[in-house]
Amino acid sequence: MSLPIVAIVGRPNVGKSTLFNKLIGQRLSIVEDTPGVTRDRIYAKCEWLGHEFMLVDTGGIEPESDDIILAQMRRQAELAILKADVTILVTDLKCGVTATDYEVAQMLLKSGKPIVLCVNKVDNVGEPPMELYEFYNLGLGEPFPVSSVHGHGTGDLLDEVLKYLPEENEEDDDDDSIKVAVIGKPNVGKSSIINKICGEERVIVSNIAGTTRDATDSVVENEKGKFVFIDTAGIRRKSKVLETIEKYSVLRAYMAVDRADVAVIVIDATVGFTEQDSKVAGYAHEKGKACVVAVNKWDAVEKDTNTMNEFQKKLQDDFSFMSYVPFVFISAKTGLRMDKLFDTIKFVAEQNSIRIPTGRLNDVLAYATQRVQPPSDKGRRLKIYYMTQVSTKPPTFVFFVNRADLYHFSYQRYIENQIRETFGLEGTPIVFKIRERD
Ligand code: GDP
Ligand code: GDP
Repeated sequence: MSLPIVAIVGRPNVGKSTLFNKLIGQRLSIVEDTPGVTRDRIYAKCEWLGHEFMLVDTGGIEPESDDIILAQMRRQAELAILKADVTILVTDLKCGVTATDYEVAQMLLKSGKPIVLCVNKVDNVGEPPMELYEFYNLGLGEPFPVSSVHGHGTGDLLDEVLKYLPEENEEDDDDDSIKVAVIGKPNVGKSSIINKICGEERVIVSNIAGTTRDATDSVVENEKGKFVFIDTAGIRRKSKVLETIEKYSVLRAYMAVDRADVAVIVIDATVGFTEQDSKVAGYAHEKGKACVVAVNKWDAVEKDTNTMNEFQKKLQDDFSFMSYVPFVFISAKTGLRMDKLFDTIKFVAEQNSIRIPTGRLNDVLAYATQRVQPPSDKGRRLKIYYMTQVSTKPPTFVFFVNRADLYHFSYQRYIENQIRETFGLEGTPIVFKIRERD
């Protein structure tokens, strides 16, 4: 399901991050928190009165530089306009309306997207202060007085935000298209891949569920099936300004992965594997998505007969934390193996939603435990009574055992390998859940 996005924008020091933390920390239950996006959290999945949305602190995305404030504000506004369904513009009662507030309000207004005006640092409860009225001059309608430190007014603010959230948009599960996120560092060739794919195939810029954000997805239908490339317009019409902000590109990748069935992790063959690749790939892995590594710019690598094998071996080491992932060596420039890329995307998506009958699983389990005895400790041996698959996307298996603490990681690894050897499950993470039973 794709969640609506609510962005917080405003000048430095008006209290954006205080508001963000208040909203996710107290007034809202955090459904999910995403550490690791940056050191400071910049987005969180939230819920208010039964409505879920993604709250983004655009201030947290800014690079720490001596950029002039207005340039920073432009970027925030640009980001909000690009991505958000609703924007909260935060201002500061103590400063009054500044020229920068005015300028940003104008930019946001031009986008035609809903804006909620928050006047922060209204710490006294009771009658709204006279200074509040000045904020009507921004032309954004009613200003909502809030104290982010104390939490006053945040409920009314969120009620207002809810009014503008798009209708809940359950992405059709009977929709048989495969949703694909093409992710990777800047310059690895993501836009080139999308352009190649969309330039040659029939492309419809869809508005699948009628929301603004989905309008940026591209649908590609070919003899291999129907594929939806998520946020590809964002990639194609990429904003150089935003793209240079690393935190922003990471954030966007994460959001795309959340909505995808398959993550295509693109790396640049002329550069090889880097730390950042493992970060993005690790996120897709943790989220249980089907994954493919596309090694792009293969045309630019000097090769002999062994080059690909050696390259692949090295990559298998680099991606050892997701040993199941297939590699496809492609070139967006020449179109090399684009066909194979589609086949692989389709294949891993199927593997990600595979259902294995319980009987067959337990046959494998019986064989595996016979071949290598389960671990024991102080005379007690692990017994695995039974296993069954409880869900797909990713395939999730529950084990019923006598003692969970005896089911060590290494033995889980062994069982995982046995299952993979038998059933393939290529390109998909799998999840084990352990339950104790007497
Ligand atoms: P940001 O740069 O917009 O993210 O602003 P911060 O959240 O870092 O806040 C800037 C300063 O304003 C900090 O010292 C906060 O403690 C203070 N501040 C934030 N919200 C309030 C508020 O509601 N009332 C008061 N009095 N101070 C606040
Ligand atoms: P993005 O930032 O990941 O979207 O990367 P781009 O698609 O903008 O590509 C970055 C640069 O790599 C551009 O100069 C492309 O022309 C170049 N490039 C992309 N794909 C290939 C490829 O398959 N082969 C070669 N030789 N260059 C490529």
